[in-house]
Amino acid sequence: MTAVNAQTIPAKTKLARPLCFAGGYTLDLYCDHENEAHRWNEFPHQFAGASEAECARRARLCGWVLHDLTRTATCPTCSGKG
Ligand SMILES: [Zn+2]
Repeated sequence: MTAVNAQTIPAKTKLARPLCFAGGYTLDLYCDHENEAHRWNEFPHQFAGASEAECARRARLCGWVLHDLTRTATCPTCSGKG
């Protein structure tokens, strides 16, 4: 077994301005209704944020109704909130 001494460990210095890690969450929503008012390529509506809660809040602000128990959603057109 080789002894490790301070001379074999490279010197390290914390950066004054290190790069921050990046991450995020996306929520892709599809309507749970059949509705002729939907465009054929309308879905998914995508919301991005730091967490699912933030994405859900943004979706609700746009008129989406999220059904937590079934993990389904109703679009603003069908919910009447659009
Ligand atoms: Zn809909």
